[in-house]
Amino acid sequence: MSDGKLILVTGAAGFLGSHLCDVLLAEGNQVLGVDNLSTGRLKNLKHLESESRFRFEEADICTPFDYGKVDYVFNLASPASPVDYMRLGVETLQVGSAGTINTLEIAKKYGAGYLHASTSECYGDPEVHPQVETYWGNVNPIGPRSVYDEAKRFSEAVVTAYNRYYNVNTHLVRIFNTYGPRLQANDGRVISNFMMQALRGVPLTIYGEGNQTRSFCYVADLIAGIVALSKSEEHLPTNIGNPGEFTMIECAQEILAVTGSKSELTFMPLPQDDPKQRKPDITKARSVLGWEPKVALREGLEKSLEYFKECVAAEA
Ligand code: UDP
Repeated sequence: MSDGKLILVTGAAGFLGSHLCDVLLAEGNQVLGVDNLSTGRLKNLKHLESESRFRFEEADICTPFDYGKVDYVFNLASPASPVDYMRLGVETLQVGSAGTINTLEIAKKYGAGYLHASTSECYGDPEVHPQVETYWGNVNPIGPRSVYDEAKRFSEAVVTAYNRYYNVNTHLVRIFNTYGPRLQANDGRVISNFMMQALRGVPLTIYGEGNQTRSFCYVADLIAGIVALSKSEEHLPTNIGNPGEFTMIECAQEILAVTGSKSELTFMPLPQDDPKQRKPDITKARSVLGWEPKVALREGLEKSLEYFKECVAAEA
């Protein structure tokens, strides 16, 4: 057994959760992964089957739980893609409220450090660009995205309250769009949709006119930022993302170039409340954590290509 810490990761079977488990194990820690597998997949943890420092429990964090003392809690459990959280609307609100409180209770009970995965969706359809942490956001509280946005905003409030009232050592990361191997191929997100469509040779589905923007962070950069934040003294929300900003047309062109695909573009209706622009201001992460992303979109897509090819092959 290592002399590292014992770390609880909720949402461990998800895209980010599984990569976080890998990094924490590589640092010499023991990891207890929890997931109810509503959107996470055991396949993401298969390579850890014979890792003695990793344990997995299938459980829903909306029900109070306690597996004993832990040194740190990373709370990543939540449906995260628009398609998933709109399908699981009430579950998303539950995990972002009851689930977050249950994980905070663990940190409070054992004096453990705590990091909650928040989101750029807290900024809604932002009127401040790029988004800086002090911006309060422009969120429709009853729109289709509200089940996710307001759950994450409530989580930020309750995490901050546990810091303010109970002195729990909390951290809040606002995660911007992230991609890489293990991103669910059919979760409806733009990178997974475009990669799969390009590799299948079918048209890439651009929603609206495709001039809305997103800023995409490669998963290894994102996890490095989260881990750095978890070790810091910063309790206020901190943006972690890649400030390279792309329209959806530009994103499609990058993917066509990386895949060498001849797919055409097809235009479809823009979903309601789809944010028009999104780009993190990472001044704070740079100065407080000494962190910045290293992988540009083209390079990250190249690193992800093999994974998406495997996903397409698995469909056949
Ligand atoms: N999008 C698109 N085509 C797709 C999927 C998404 O044009 O097949 C657009 C979507 O309208 C949004 C952006 O890509 O403006 C990012 O969508 P995603 O679902 O990846 O995540 P979001 O950033 O909206 O949470």
